[in-house]
Amino acid sequence: MVKRVYRDELPGQGEFKEIIESKSKEFNDSKGKVRTAMYASDYGSCQRKVWYQFFSDKFPPERITGKLARVFANGDDVHFRLSAYLADDRALEFEREIGVPRNHLEVHGRCDGMTLHKGQATIVEFKSINKKVVEAIKLEHEGQLMWYLGMWEAKRLELRKEFGIEENDIVVDVEFLIGHTRTGRDLSSAEKKLLRSNGPVKGEVIYECKPTQDVFSFPVAFDELKFKEVQEWYRQLKWYVEAGIRPRVRYLRTKFPCDWFTGKCQYYDICHGEGANQGDIVILGRKLEGPAVQFEDRGDGLTAEEVERLMKLKSNPDEIAQEMNEDVASDEEGDNE
Ligand code: SF4
Repeated sequence: MVKRVYRDELPGQGEFKEIIESKSKEFNDSKGKVRTAMYASDYGSCQRKVWYQFFSDKFPPERITGKLARVFANGDDVHFRLSAYLADDRALEFEREIGVPRNHLEVHGRCDGMTLHKGQATIVEFKSINKKVVEAIKLEHEGQLMWYLGMWEAKRLELRKEFGIEENDIVVDVEFLIGHTRTGRDLSSAEKKLLRSNGPVKGEVIYECKPTQDVFSFPVAFDELKFKEVQEWYRQLKWYVEAGIRPRVRYLRTKFPCDWFTGKCQYYDICHGEGANQGDIVILGRKLEGPAVQFEDRGDGLTAEEVERLMKLKSNPDEIAQEMNEDVASDEEGDNE
């Protein structure tokens, strides 16, 4: 059977563009979903922004634009592509997207991949960045990777203990190991890689530049002090969520991460809009997974000497804000997790 249609019933020019605009938003919009966990990729972002997401029934975000949604989606595509390159080289034993072990803070995360190459386990993170040249690793990416390294290294040591392997021993065949409650055959492939690693877990952040497609790579070694600093960041955030107290932040309303050349934070109006409450907001807190937080224990888990060293490491906050603002002018939130 044939149905006669008239020209003005056919899709008009420009209609597909509108469909893409609206669908790209749908594909990436969390629609103000209440979050229930902290993620490793949160590190270094505005703590207040993450906090709002735990209470999005009370603090609904502005919806993201289709353009921003596509920027995020592009970042995800880069992960798939770069993962495929590494996976194609069998010698690397690359395994993609692995759930990262958790400690008492219950920070959720999936690292982009783990390799076992020449007897060394390495955690790999891919980032898409809107720069022509990447001269240094970004602090938030180093922190995210440091978290993964801390978690995986703790797991590696735990496994060695479970199977009675000394640090200098080299594991030749995992399958034949016998522990108290399980054998080498019961281990996940990531755990097997850890046991076969001849030394502490290492890491690498790999950037692909959007304007040039150049690739830059930054090896990261585990640093206990930096790890403790990241841990403290999560401990604080957890405390704020469970206490229901909005974190205090020191960002300028005209600068990143609140406002930048081509966009604004989804919570801009709540923080800086007309009649916004600039002081403390205290609401009913939300319990996160894991053991109860010790409210009276506001100590940071660092020794006095470590705190002193950390303070020396930190730059002037105004310089950091200036640096971030310059970065974002070119990044346009284009570094994707
Ligand atoms: S507007 Fe600024 S302070 Fe408020 S949540 Fe966003 S980034 Fe944080």
